[in-house]
Amino acid sequence: MPPLFPALTAALTATPAADRPALRFGERSLTYAELAGTAAVVAEGLTRARRVAVWATPTMETSVAVTAALLAGVAVVPLNPRSGEKELGHILTDSAPDLVLTAPGTPLPALLAALPRVDVDTTARGALPDDRAHSPQDPALIVYTSGTTGPPKGAVLPRRAIAATLDALADAWRWTGDDVLVHGLPLFHVHGLVLGTLGPLRRGGSVRHLGAFTTEGVARELNAGATMLFGVPTMYHRIAEALPAEPELAKALAGARLLVSGSAALPVHDHERIAAATGRRVVERYGMTETLMLCSSRWTPPDSPPAVRADGGARPGTVGVPLPGVELRLVEEDGSPVAAYDGETVGEIQVRGTNLFTGYLNRPDATAAAYTADGWFRTGDMAVRDPDGHVRIVGRKATDLIKSGGYKIGAGEIENVLLEHPGVREAAVTGEPDADLGERIVAWVVPADPHAPPGLDELADHVAGRLAPHKRPRVLHHLDALPRNDMGKIMKRALSRG
Ligand code: ATP
Ligand code: MG
Repeated sequence: MPPLFPALTAALTATPAADRPALRFGERSLTYAELAGTAAVVAEGLTRARRVAVWATPTMETSVAVTAALLAGVAVVPLNPRSGEKELGHILTDSAPDLVLTAPGTPLPALLAALPRVDVDTTARGALPDDRAHSPQDPALIVYTSGTTGPPKGAVLPRRAIAATLDALADAWRWTGDDVLVHGLPLFHVHGLVLGTLGPLRRGGSVRHLGAFTTEGVARELNAGATMLFGVPTMYHRIAEALPAEPELAKALAGARLLVSGSAALPVHDHERIAAATGRRVVERYGMTETLMLCSSRWTPPDSPPAVRADGGARPGTVGVPLPGVELRLVEEDGSPVAAYDGETVGEIQVRGTNLFTGYLNRPDATAAAYTADGWFRTGDMAVRDPDGHVRIVGRKATDLIKSGGYKIGAGEIENVLLEHPGVREAAVTGEPDADLGERIVAWVVPADPHAPPGLDELADHVAGRLAPHKRPRVLHHLDALPRNDMGKIMKRALSRG
């Protein structure tokens, strides 16, 4: 297989490439030559390891550790430093890493005490190993899912999946070595790690990590010449809220080449507010741990049915069309594929392609259950396809599809409309059993003004007037905040138990 990071290899031979910036975290930065040198030393120490854990703080050391392990052909298990003891214990027992890589001076929890610890020295310099001998099937990353549906499962991602997904996105977004990414995401998840760190490195671009996301940081970096921003919807929500008071931010976004949101649905209200203030449309990307990236707008495949817009432009509420190399179909409950591009017929998204994981670690049962007999991966996400081929996610089969009065109703559509109400700051919609309707629609709302929360009738009329009468919420709960995980995703199971 060709090298995973051609730009690192080039940095050792070609002088102009060597001095290009690769990574920056706060005041600290590494050029490609420096990154190649330090990763080489770390990789040398890993030759006897089979699988290593990385204590994935948002630091330079995490990025160096992961790069080094991939060069050495050793599988990486990124650990979320904010995991609870139970989750961390499960991941360590399940993945059995040989050692843990971390930044010098970082305190590690007692659970990791038994593992040999390797401190990453970002000042060391060595000779880069040749990674071309590793097989495309070799595991590169083992990333644990969020565990919404049971104990987190370790998705084994082979080297070919990383290469395929990054190249497909780079082509779709015309991503080049001149791009500079503003990054504010955690590094233990595929979004921040694969897309946000390995992506720029594969293409010879550079990353400026904010440490922690702030709208001021985004404005500063984009105004200082960064070209792209990758974020999750909670970040774009904060941007949308901050725009009226921060002219520097509006200027920064207006000048960016590419704004991308992924990991969860971007509320239409936030998309529209950003577009109105900056003239820029946020590109939505859809993917998941097991499949890496699947769809994106701003991409026009030559054979897409029936008439994908020539500009591949981003439209609120859609995630675009499948990336090159990704086969995507919608399947109805009885197993028959949805043929229609009517914006209405809902089916489960199933996919095939080189971007897919090879299975869940130690879970042949879960791996088998994840695939259909003919080899399609069941994403568990429900969607429709618009006449122009764009995929519109309705939500997760398990938590976002409400069957009420004979209708299949997507929670996201109602959430988007609730968020347009001035009295609503945050909104989530679930279903609960109802003797009459099968399920009834429940709205969970964080009011904009806690002293004057909007009432059920007011919100139900607001929804029914904009969508259809059967989509009106029947129950309303006011909350101080929605339960969210580290990626800002709404944890609906916690709500339903609520
Ligand atoms: P678990 O599998 O443990 O329940 P998880 O599915 O939340 O956790 P991830 O793999 O990080 O963990 O998330 C992928 C899911 O996020 C997708 O299956 C989909 O439901 C959702 N998602 C990702 N991107 C988008 C998007 N642009 N729009 C809507 N939903 C999205
Ligand atoms: Mg999942």
